[in-house]
Amino acid sequence: MNKHDFPILQQTKNGKPLVYLDSSATSQKPQVVIDALRHYYEHTNANIHRGVYELSERATKLYENTRENIKNFINAKKSSEIIFVRGATEAINLVADTYGRINIKENDEIIISTMEHHSNIVPWKLLCEKVGAKLRVISISDSGEMDLDQYQKLFSAHTKLVAIAHASNVLGTINPIKTMIKIAHEHNAKILIDGAQAFPHLSIDVQDLDCDFYVFSAHKAYGPTGVGVLYGKEELLEKMPPYQGGGSMIETVSFEKITYAKSPAKFEAGTPDIGGVIAFNAALNYLKNIGMQNIMQHEQDLLKDATQKLSEFPELKLIGTAKEKLGVISFVLKDIHPHDVGTILAHDNIAVRAGHHCAMPLMQRFNVPAMVRVSFGLYNDKTDIDALLVGLHNTQRLFA
Ligand SMILES: *Cc1c(COP(=O)(O)O)cnc(C)c1O
Repeated sequence: MNKHDFPILQQTKNGKPLVYLDSSATSQKPQVVIDALRHYYEHTNANIHRGVYELSERATKLYENTRENIKNFINAKKSSEIIFVRGATEAINLVADTYGRINIKENDEIIISTMEHHSNIVPWKLLCEKVGAKLRVISISDSGEMDLDQYQKLFSAHTKLVAIAHASNVLGTINPIKTMIKIAHEHNAKILIDGAQAFPHLSIDVQDLDCDFYVFSAHKAYGPTGVGVLYGKEELLEKMPPYQGGGSMIETVSFEKITYAKSPAKFEAGTPDIGGVIAFNAALNYLKNIGMQNIMQHEQDLLKDATQKLSEFPELKLIGTAKEKLGVISFVLKDIHPHDVGTILAHDNIAVRAGHHCAMPLMQRFNVPAMVRVSFGLYNDKTDIDALLVGLHNTQRLFA
């Protein structure tokens, strides 16, 4: 599906085509995104929100168009609820440093889960250490699903915030976040959803979900690196202090007193990645043209095909067999270290991820030091799965 839109996928190594199965780490970029980035620097480059000349006005308009498009894409109420940051990581740190700083106090509790990416663990741990709060952790089942009964029991009068992944970058599990959001609100806690994995693959409706914060990165959704998005409910953003200080985030400055701009400007100090934000709009339009429903269907077909073939593969153990999954498959091959599997596949020009996947607590949960991960993007097809299986047979033969 649409492989020809991605120039990088046309390259070969020793006559072998690139089989890219690492879209959960970062996605490849379609020509329209590369063209938008280049067009910006060739025709529109100027700083935004300040110049009165035509170029600056044009750059500002395009930058704000992306914000408007994201607002519509995730069905936020207002575009002022969309804040540009560097990535999902920065978005989570922003919430921890601003919302967390004024709302989380000594003895308060934050709930996260065993399947979180380090980006959704470390900022909360840092906050807990700063203010004397505690982390509580949701357990997961052997198939890689959240234990909802235990989740309910983790709440106490001290619970202030829940922060969980919409989908796991290792297990692929799509979590029942709508239910989990409702439960958090029943306990008067706010909830942040880490959508870094889910956003490129699922339709997101933040009003329907009713989450308080939702974060994602452009680079995992066919856009450029260096751009991320924080969605926050307006009434929360209004009360949050600024994140970084600098240009663009103020209303007035004197040495005695500073007044801050309103959201989103309040959280966007300094010159952002203007070209990246503008090019991300091309990625969003590209996704919209194909349709999220079609993307999901295509990736689910690949998931089904690959899961079946891999589960029949001798001495291969799948890790993460939840009912609801994204196109992400992790596994271990008996007696062969995941890094060796990845390195040998790389000789055949097959790109997979091997390691702890920024989720060390999850590796401990499954008693392995590392896993091999295969993850699909909209450009993958069944020839990629077949190439992977040939590569795995070659790997096994080398170790036999
Ligand atoms: C990739 C990822 C992140 C971090 O995203 P960055 O783009 O590196 O900031 C956070 N959470 C999950 C689940 C991820 O997959």
